[in-house]
Amino acid sequence: VLEARDVHFAFGRTPALRGADLRLGEGEILAVMGPSGSGKSTLLHCLAGILVPDSGEIHFDGQRIDRLGETGRSALRRDKFGFVFQFGQLVPELSAEENVALPLLLSGVRRSAATAEARVLLERLGLDGLAARTSGELSGGQAQRVALARGLVARPRVLFADEPTGALDSLTGEQVMDLLVGSARAEGTSVVLVTHEPRVAAYADREVVVRDGKVLALTAEPAA
Ligand code: ATP
Ligand code: MG
Repeated sequence: VLEARDVHFAFGRTPALRGADLRLGEGEILAVMGPSGSGKSTLLHCLAGILVPDSGEIHFDGQRIDRLGETGRSALRRDKFGFVFQFGQLVPELSAEENVALPLLLSGVRRSAATAEARVLLERLGLDGLAARTSGELSGGQAQRVALARGLVARPRVLFADEPTGALDSLTGEQVMDLLVGSARAEGTSVVLVTHEPRVAAYADREVVVRDGKVLALTAEPAA
């Protein structure tokens, strides 16, 4: 589905990626590990069309997304990709249900349909009793599950998760990962999972390590 080829990216004079290569298969859950500052988040942002590489190529479904302008990339992010980050980043003024419905509303889905779909997701993630609460009224684990529901509600082709359990204790983190992996498998969603926790990476089909802005394969790529 998604492939990075020889991607270079620098923040000003600080090189973050120096020839990163990565392939994500259809429905594959890929863990991206590596030390702090190695370039994991930068790679995720390049793959997701948030950052544009200085050189190299990003292919999604046969399309060069690094050649798209900001409008094309933001449409792609909205229509094909879902996101979960370390700190849920829920809109604090909105209820859990409104937060989950948000991606659909931004895609032009009618409010009634978006709300109905949000309810389905909240229920699936065991959050139906919390739909009316704002993020301030949720525990960290609950907020992260709401963020996961929001990342999945538009049925993305690829879910990008950057340290989705980083702010959680290990039990709550496991719950979130069970839900993330269970939902991705059920929908055939591919997942790029950035984590430095081996227990979280163990949920993936395959692991790679980013070191000094390059990707090292850890477990073998499954034969195509
Ligand atoms: P962590 O595990 O701590 O999240 P990471 O592997 O995700 O680390 P990146 O965030 O991709 O690492 O950072 C790669 C390099 O780019 C680091 O040297 C970092 O200091 C630098 N960097 C990241 N973001 C910025 C930024 N916005 N401006 C300048 N430099 C940045
Ligand atoms: Mg990071």
